[in-house]
Amino acid sequence: MRALITGGAGFIGSHLAETLLGGGHSVSVIDDLSTGSFDNIAHLKGRAGFSYTIDTIMNEPVLAELVDQCDVIYHLAAAVGVRLIVEAPVRTIETNVHGTEVVLKHASKKQRTVVVASTSEVYGKSDDVPFREDGDIALGPTVKHRWAYACSKAMDEFLALAYWKEKRLPVIIVRLFNTVGPRQTGRYGMVVPSFVRQALAGEPLTVYGDGTQSRCFTWVGDVVGALAALAGRREALGRVYNLGSTEEVSIRALAERVKALTGSASPIVSVPYDQAYESGFEDMPRRVPDITRIRALIGFEPKASLDEILQLVIDHHRTR
Ligand code: UDP
Repeated sequence: MRALITGGAGFIGSHLAETLLGGGHSVSVIDDLSTGSFDNIAHLKGRAGFSYTIDTIMNEPVLAELVDQCDVIYHLAAAVGVRLIVEAPVRTIETNVHGTEVVLKHASKKQRTVVVASTSEVYGKSDDVPFREDGDIALGPTVKHRWAYACSKAMDEFLALAYWKEKRLPVIIVRLFNTVGPRQTGRYGMVVPSFVRQALAGEPLTVYGDGTQSRCFTWVGDVVGALAALAGRREALGRVYNLGSTEEVSIRALAERVKALTGSASPIVSVPYDQAYESGFEDMPRRVPDITRIRALIGFEPKASLDEILQLVIDHHRTR
């Protein structure tokens, strides 16, 4: 299989590239390095079957050529991180909506399979936990930029499913739940690398809000293994899959675990959302996937526990 990974120099994309190359596939990456980094793929340079293009997916002649040369597209290029989304809303919406539009249009011309990376963020404020793929989504008002991200990714899903329905473009949509691991940066607000960096630097661990909000952190290796397994599944076409761990943890408990595992003396401090992001910021109170559907399809089971994941991330930060 010849895979094209958009956003392939990003955190998840670079791990996926490694996994696919390890499975004997060839991999071509396109990334504009806006949030990705060349360092993430530098070790793959020169490896048989690997190539990369530093450009935006919105450069249509370049993208068309790459699409022509592949069998399957993993579309991971997107604006990521709540901080970036709040601070650069125009870029978020344009990258997510227009970028996906371009990828689907060119994939459709050549009838290439597209695996679209979506996000658990699309469930918004829904309290119907655990979230099922066919459950309702509950987004906040348009004056709160956080919801622009969820809405832009939901639009990607609508468009991909529309291509499947109208043009039989083979698409598979995967909603990722808080993927973590080495190479993820805390620069755009992600909590695990932020807490680990703070704990190792002896700085306060900044818990936003009251810390009762919960997430399920998923090991990047589990995520990319599932992504690799999905592409060949005909029965997955035109469907949406949750992909994540079901081990739920509150953000305050996460801070305590990072502190204990690093042996850090850092204090844990509360930061109001208004100060952390912007006035009136709304968070998701709980986020837990129902993974029945992906388990039935590929036998997916998250292998890494939260403590194992945190230990691997801590080791990664220590060796850097
Ligand atoms: N968070 C926090 N401190 C930080 C960064 C994030 O308490 O330094 C919180 C954030 O408000 C959210 C959770 O941790 O409730 C997960 O945030 P992240 O940005 O990693 O992912 P999200 O699930 O919000 O997309």
